[in-house]
Amino acid sequence: MSKPTPQRSALIAGGGIAGVAAGLALARAGWSVSVHERAASFEEVGAGLQISPNAARVLDWLGVLDALAPTAFRPERAELRDGLSGAPVYAAPLGVAAEQRWGAPYLHIHRADLLAVLLAAARTAGVTLRTSDAVARYVNTPEAVHVTMADGRLEYADLCLGADGLRSSVRTALNGSEQPAFTQQTAWRALVPRAALPEGLVAPNATVWAGPGRHVVTYYLRGGALVNLVAVEERPDWTEEDWSLEGDPERLRAAFTGWHPAVTGLLAAVERAHVWGLFLRPEQVRWAEGRVALVGDAAHAMLPFMAQGAAMALEDVTELIRALQGAPDIPSALLAYERARWPRVARVQARSRANAKLFHKRTALGRLSAWTPIRLVSRFAPGLAAGQLDWLYGQDPTAGLAPLRQGT
Ligand code: FAD
Repeated sequence: MSKPTPQRSALIAGGGIAGVAAGLALARAGWSVSVHERAASFEEVGAGLQISPNAARVLDWLGVLDALAPTAFRPERAELRDGLSGAPVYAAPLGVAAEQRWGAPYLHIHRADLLAVLLAAARTAGVTLRTSDAVARYVNTPEAVHVTMADGRLEYADLCLGADGLRSSVRTALNGSEQPAFTQQTAWRALVPRAALPEGLVAPNATVWAGPGRHVVTYYLRGGALVNLVAVEERPDWTEEDWSLEGDPERLRAAFTGWHPAVTGLLAAVERAHVWGLFLRPEQVRWAEGRVALVGDAAHAMLPFMAQGAAMALEDVTELIRALQGAPDIPSALLAYERARWPRVARVQARSRANAKLFHKRTALGRLSAWTPIRLVSRFAPGLAAGQLDWLYGQDPTAGLAPLRQGT
């Protein structure tokens, strides 16, 4: 009889989508896992998330997709419209067509629903979940990583993951103290009950309404009971001390005066909104060193204009498990993980930046010249238009991975 291998241990900094999903996958792959969240509770902002088919495949592999189905909303189309006139620029079918083309559904999910389902599965899989417990720094040794917690406690693990978001302390320990920089983009977020809106005002689609220096994204959540809106506005600076604030809905409405009635009608019903300054850190940094690696926004925060930040975090998890299964030791697995993820994440980051330019054309001439070719392809070669997303949505991040142990 062969000797049982001792259980390997992982300590994860950060209990957002990246940290809890990574904890769940590692526990189901046989690791002993603890997730340490700095905040007093595991919480997501009250807003929606677009889950593209590449991300839905990861949720399915993690065994949580079915639990999300009852509250998810399946949009019929993805569309880009002129925010002033409402004229269509681009449209691609989602719904059943997305599933047929890309092998998994395109879903709209409330963030709190996703985190709750991941946490429940992580608990069942035996993950230790700790709150009010921040990671401060670490020391790599050949035998283990020594992690110092904010309260001075010392923890030891075979692997430490920094899933601690844009302002990651693990990233700072790994790369030095580069500061997040304001991108001159701010994002308002609000939820509006469908019952508060005129019938038919919001189409059952994922719609980007684009215009000079700003855009609005609208879509349904919770089976269509709520409308999620994200309104992005360029601003020269962000002087607030916090990077997220309760914003004045009147100020939000004023920023979109004169826009299409579908936008202004929705904004008229907003009672509460929060506004975020969008910050980024440099992209060319290390994600792995010895027994420590970064996942999710800690590794690669990006502008949200491809709706892929959480999707990339979920993809990270599959690549991490693949690398840990295939490499002779943890440090080489983490370097393999970084190498494998880099090109795809860099492409998504670049496309997200490009979309800021595409959506925010300031002049009518700029909009005409940028949007006419897209309009023509979308109208006369719709298959080609949808095909432009095959590289992103059509990739199966779980391909070749062994199924995870389900349940405990
Ligand atoms: P976070 O959610 O930031 O979690 C990090 C956690 O770590 C936090 O809970 C924090 O409290 C904790 N923490 C911080 N420091 C420490 C420490 N030292 N020790 C312990 N814990 C710590 N993505 C999509 O895929 N689809 C979308 O539709 C989409 N829409 C978006 C819309 C907007 C307006 C924005 C801003 C982003 C959007 N994103 C979207 C991106 C997505 O929200 C993020 O990429 C994703 O939430 C990142 O998850 P994370 O777990 O890596 O980081």
